[in-house]
Amino acid sequence: NPETPLRTINASGVTFADIGGLEDVKKQVRRRIINPFTGKRDLFRKFKRKAGGGVLMYGPPGCGKTMLAKALATECNARFYNIRASDVLDKYVGVAEKTIRDIFANARAQKPVVLFFDEVEALAQRRQMDTTAKINTTVSALLTEMDGFSEDNDGVLFLGATNVPWSLDSAFRRPGRFDRSIFVPPPDKVARGFILGRLLQDRPTASGLNVAQIVDKTSGLSGADLSAVVDTAIDIAIEDSASVTELEPLNNAHFKEALKEVKSSVGEWLGQAR
Ligand code: ATP
Repeated sequence: NPETPLRTINASGVTFADIGGLEDVKKQVRRRIINPFTGKRDLFRKFKRKAGGGVLMYGPPGCGKTMLAKALATECNARFYNIRASDVLDKYVGVAEKTIRDIFANARAQKPVVLFFDEVEALAQRRQMDTTAKINTTVSALLTEMDGFSEDNDGVLFLGATNVPWSLDSAFRRPGRFDRSIFVPPPDKVARGFILGRLLQDRPTASGLNVAQIVDKTSGLSGADLSAVVDTAIDIAIEDSASVTELEPLNNAHFKEALKEVKSSVGEWLGQAR
């Protein structure tokens, strides 16, 4: 139905095994999102535990929130829909509310279902005197649907992702809504080793390449930053290489140079978060 933008997320086979570190986060989402719908479904019924409500993932950009959502979509036996603010917001008053109502009605008809709101702050922003009536009514409509007073939201789970949790209306934190918040931190040493290992897989590397040293020097970098470091090092190696037969594999000097160029996006985020 083109009027109700329920898009499945393009998970392209991402699983939890692809995600480095974040063990706590994985445990939480497993408990809250996977268990209600999969192996533990009967236990939920037995304990009369409703499978509803939501989890808000927050933290600096590029640290795996979208990846976690994709892994969830792959691993839970539920329909998994991606709700983007741009699909919902509309220049005409009243249209966004209708879209939100339609999305939820559609989702309830397909339970069990996970609704993933990426950049949720765009839809769930704090209502203030100076925000427009349009924003305020959109936020109110979303809150009403998440409550599901008249409708049954059992079997409808919400997953939200944001870099700016402080800009969400506090009403979204109440029970049944995004009642659990999980911080998705920048990768620790072990996770950076894992991510770098994956990024370097199948790439020409010098035998003396000191990955442990790169791991030490990349404290405070996000997964996305690490990817930028590797790409930059590769660009430098390509510059150094005359041809495929005379190529210069990735070495410590390439990384030394790349590390000078790539800045931590987490540091910027922390400045903003303060
Ligand atoms: P944003 O807030 O900017 O949307 P995000 O937190 O959703 O960022 P992702 O898009 O999931 O971050 O991560 C960006 C990229 O960084 C991923 O595609 C992946 O390659 C890599 N990455 C980030 N964190 C991890 C991780 N823990 N394990 C493996 N790869 C990671």
